[in-house]
Amino acid sequence: APILETRKLVKRYPNGDVLAVDNVSLSIEPGEYVSIMGPSGSGKSTLMNLLGGLDTPTSGEVLFQGKPYGAFGSLDALRAKHLGYVFQSFHLLPTLTALENVQVPMFESSRTAPERQAAAVELLKLVHMEHRAGHSPLRLSVGERQRVAIARSLANNPEVLLADEPTGNLDSKNGAEVLDLFDKIHREHGVTLVVITHGGEVAERAERLLTYRDGRVVADQRR
Ligand code: ADP
Ligand code: ADP
Repeated sequence: APILETRKLVKRYPNGDVLAVDNVSLSIEPGEYVSIMGPSGSGKSTLMNLLGGLDTPTSGEVLFQGKPYGAFGSLDALRAKHLGYVFQSFHLLPTLTALENVQVPMFESSRTAPERQAAAVELLKLVHMEHRAGHSPLRLSVGERQRVAIARSLANNPEVLLADEPTGNLDSKNGAEVLDLFDKIHREHGVTLVVITHGGEVAERAERLLTYRDGRVVADQRR
């Protein structure tokens, strides 16, 4: 069964009457690495926000493991336990250390403080940031910040990682490092990846490429 699915999904913004998602039905299987590629303004972020339960559709539905989002009493638990998010800008908390930032989503779980700390250290190792554990994000480079944000996105072992232009603020070297991390997370941890991009290397790494134009999926290629 698909891990994520949309059925006749529509998102219309009232002001300007923009149809950002225009009747999209798509199905993502567990363990897939999908990229959604399209030009700026085509509705990619809107689609990502609907997939992530961060926004409500005009009509149609999104399902996680066959269950419509509308049937979850609250989406908080779905988001906290099953979905990880990576954005173009990192949204780290500047008053916390890297290690503390990674632990923030863990307060939703029943883990003890030592368990949270140990898990966060492991995640910082995964992204090669353990040597910066005590640093504020303000003292990190942008590439390092994104790696900490990726560690945080994995805090509760989500099945799905949703990333919106994750390399958009990075130079090509740091961007490639982030993409290498995604490869590892996909390959070694079996996480389903959905990565949104306007193009470039991000799209080339994915196993399945959805081309998005004017709110519609116009091509769906597997390789
Ligand atoms: P992309 O991520 O591909 O750049 P977006 O999903 O951000 O596309 O935007 C798609 C379209 O919807 C654009 O025309 C944008 O101006 C419009 N849009 C996005 N968010 C809003 C909003 N909150 N209110 C009104 N229009 C919006
Ligand atoms: P929460 O109450 O968990 O904070 P939201 O405020 O994001 O959830 O959403 C409020 C309600 O809107 C949800 O309980 C759900 O019924 C509905 N909803 C939100 N997003 C979607 C979606 N992508 N598809 C279908 N229904 C949704």
